[in-house]
Amino acid sequence: MASNMAHMRDTKWLTLEVCREFQRGTCSRSDVECKFAHPAKSCQVDNGRVIACFDSLKGRCSRENCKYLHPPPHLKTQLEINGRNNLIQQKNMAMLAQQMQLANAIMPGTQLQPMPMFSVAPSLASSPSAGAFSPTWAPCRPA
Ligand SMILES: [Zn+2]
Ligand SMILES: [Zn+2]
Repeated sequence: MASNMAHMRDTKWLTLEVCREFQRGTCSRSDVECKFAHPAKSCQVDNGRVIACFDSLKGRCSRENCKYLHPPPHLKTQLEINGRNNLIQQKNMAMLAQQMQLANAIMPGTQLQPMPMFSVAPSLASSPSAGAFSPTWAPCRPA
């Protein structure tokens, strides 16, 4: 008896796109060849997507007529990557939230300081380079 406590979890990363051709019955590929899901009739298709069976990913789904997709190996791999990214994302979000809290605790309300104005040096007006205009022509002085 495996009681599934993971109810109402974020299942977004577990969804797979259902093969449209398969839905029309025209996909010539088998489910292990097609890059889209070929769900069994018992699967619940929602908006052209199915939720993969989490237990199946763990290799321990014992439900008959499971309403979740039991993905073929290549889709399983894809889901495992999704799951990992999902975890990383969640961790990053948690870390970011923590950092924000920390920053707020140290310096309340100072996260978004506007950049100090640059004092734009008038580089064009500068460097008058005196002497540049010294005339090469010198007036002849009577000796
Ligand atoms: Zn297909
Ligand atoms: Zn299952």
